[in-house]
Amino acid sequence: MSEQYGTVEAVERLSPSMIRVVFGGAGLAGFEPTDQTDQYVNALFVPDGAPYSVPFDPDEVRSLEPEFRPKGRRYTIRAWDPETRRVTIDFVAHGDVGFAGRWAQRAQVGDRLQMVGPSGGYRPNTDADWYLMVGDESALPAIAASLDVVPPGRRCVVLAVVDDADHEIDLGIDAGIDTAGAGDVEVRWCHRVDGTPTEQRLVDEIARLDWSGNVDIFVHGEAAEVRAVRRFLVAERGVDRSGCSISPYWRRGKDDEGWREIKREWIADDLVGV
Ligand SMILES: Cc1cc2nc3c(=O)[nH]c(=O)nc-3n(C[C@H](O)[C@H](O)[C@H](O)COP(=O)(O)OP(=O)(O)OC[C@H]3O[C@@H](n4cnc5c(N)ncnc54)[C@H](O)[C@@H]3O)c2cc1C
Repeated sequence: MSEQYGTVEAVERLSPSMIRVVFGGAGLAGFEPTDQTDQYVNALFVPDGAPYSVPFDPDEVRSLEPEFRPKGRRYTIRAWDPETRRVTIDFVAHGDVGFAGRWAQRAQVGDRLQMVGPSGGYRPNTDADWYLMVGDESALPAIAASLDVVPPGRRCVVLAVVDDADHEIDLGIDAGIDTAGAGDVEVRWCHRVDGTPTEQRLVDEIARLDWSGNVDIFVHGEAAEVRAVRRFLVAERGVDRSGCSISPYWRRGKDDEGWREIKREWIADDLVGV
């Protein structure tokens, strides 16, 4: 995997909780996209007060005090424009916490972000009769990039968790990039403000879906929501997990370091529990 850095060329608020950052510049000369629509980079955030700046040598900064070492956070490539060699990433702004979320809220043209990758593991199967894509804001970039390549006319159901109607975003992209996607897309927004736990809302929505045909499934986002959906799909819809892309991106109440420590155990428990 290659190492590079992007220079911020544009920042746009998509909603109160989503910030789109477009990166370009010479630091992306070696960027090599994959053909996976959930492709992501490990973005390296420099803590405040650290005695180095982007670009840096990851081997050199590894010997610094732990609080000054870069903090790795994974972010989906929402779009890659081969003509201009620009990378678009949509960041969730989730309050005044988190290296990545705070960085995005302060991002300005000219800022730099170092990143390793990309890599990925999903692309819509063009043989499927229909597509089910489920996730919160953190998964919407991967869902939107996947919708871009779904065969024309094919049924796509997206279940998307956001705070309320003001937080809904357009899943299309207007970045001058040709996208083949012309699927028959139905987005069902699940609002956190509605009161019913989102895990239940998602399961209820899935229970109501017409399940005929061969479905391609992509479920990512907050760990408890992903777990609830995975259990329902396996137990009630007889879905074979191995043919799906289902995994948690983050865990409420845990920062990414804390989440990575327990993720393996959490997923193992999840598999036992279904
Ligand atoms: C493969 C992959 C792709 C991803 N793609 C994207 C993407 O394109 N866009 C994106 O925004 N995120 C994406 N994520 C999720 C992102 O990496 C995590 O949300 C990460 O924890 C954010 O780091 P942070 O430094 O802002 O917060 P952290 O320091 O990790 O956490 C600080 C606090 O914020 C909470 N928190 C973290 N994320 C969220 C959130 N989304 N909403 C509410 N609270 C949160 C934590 O639980 C913790 O309490 C992806 C994750 C993976 C594994």
